[in-house]
Amino acid sequence: MSGIFADRTTINSENRLAEMFGGNLGKDGIKFSAGNPDPELFPVTQIKKAFNNAINEYGNQIFEYQTISGFKKLRNYLAQRTIHTEDIKATANNILITQGGQQALDLISKLFLNNGDGIVVEAPTYVGALSAFEQYNPCYYDVTLKEDGLDLEQLELLLQAHPDIKLLYTIPDFQNPTGVTLSLNKRKKLVKLAEEYDFFILEDTPYRDLRYKGSRLPSIKSFDHHGHVIFVSSFSKILMPGLRIGWITADKSIIDQLSKLKASSDLETSGILLTALNQYIEDNNLDTHIVEMLPIYQKRLVTMLEVLDEKMPADVHYTRPEGGFFIWLTLPDVIDTQKLLNETCIPKDRISFVPGKVFYAHKNRRNSIRLNFSGVNEKQIKIGISKLAKSIESVITANKVETLL
Ligand code: PMP
Repeated sequence: MSGIFADRTTINSENRLAEMFGGNLGKDGIKFSAGNPDPELFPVTQIKKAFNNAINEYGNQIFEYQTISGFKKLRNYLAQRTIHTEDIKATANNILITQGGQQALDLISKLFLNNGDGIVVEAPTYVGALSAFEQYNPCYYDVTLKEDGLDLEQLELLLQAHPDIKLLYTIPDFQNPTGVTLSLNKRKKLVKLAEEYDFFILEDTPYRDLRYKGSRLPSIKSFDHHGHVIFVSSFSKILMPGLRIGWITADKSIIDQLSKLKASSDLETSGILLTALNQYIEDNNLDTHIVEMLPIYQKRLVTMLEVLDEKMPADVHYTRPEGGFFIWLTLPDVIDTQKLLNETCIPKDRISFVPGKVFYAHKNRRNSIRLNFSGVNEKQIKIGISKLAKSIESVITANKVETLL
């Protein structure tokens, strides 16, 4: 039967992506299509203890309804962390705890976007964000992503031409899917533009603490003195995604509005999980856990770049991220990477990646690839990337022959 369900099903999670592009690889396949942290790095023993300690400490209370904005002690901790690591003024009243960063994206879209409202997105950008925005039927404006982040000249022309633009979505640190980081000057300039053209910036930062090289840049929000920036983060990549805990930092007036919307959606994030997470943070050092993961991911990134440097044909270009989970490859224009995946990489090489076109609001670009390095070991990287390079080389050669004929 058609017409019963509203048309709101989109690709909306890393698991779904990995399933769509390479779910059928089997045991020996090598998946560069995932986007998740390595489960071997989850501090399972400490989390188990934290659950026990939290139940012993809070008793039945932990199983009760709690508050919409989330366990106060955890919000206090996040406010302190925001002050110390981000140089952003915050109290618990500026924090709303959400079901992962994903719910934050949904709630912010719900608050800001009416049918047809303008939203600027990076081209390419995170699919889950597109799927959250799409529920509210916005009008997308793409801005090209350069080596140092958003093309601000292009953005300013758009802002001049479209005063209806309300929101700009950016992932400034080790962007998903490209690994690109927004430069310091552009961070400052972006806030100035938001003030001048009166729009809000949604700064999404799940990879921010996963820097393997170079020094940390200030958040965009740290330059915001008039409340134009909404900062979103998550425990998914720095701890474990199964907790489904993220948070929003913004002016109290915005947090109050978002809290009402959250209540309509789920009343509150599970108090059991929040209390246990808070207990984990009290009993352990989260920063030590993060620092211990860095060399492991760094080694995978370095290995992937080394094999790419050694094996990829000269007309394939790729980013050189300083953190995060992803590298972005741009192939010659004529190559359709979805076709490459379906016809060669999955059936013959038994490797997978995500074809770049899914990451665009306007899905007309077909010659790019997102590679994930956080979920594969060095051996898999060496074998898998060598195979990918060979297959790409064959398609490039075949195309050259075809154009000669
Ligand atoms: N934003 C970005 C850029 C992401 O890559 C992800 C997850 N892949 C999310 C938000 C959502 O993550 P979570 O809901 O697990 O916090």
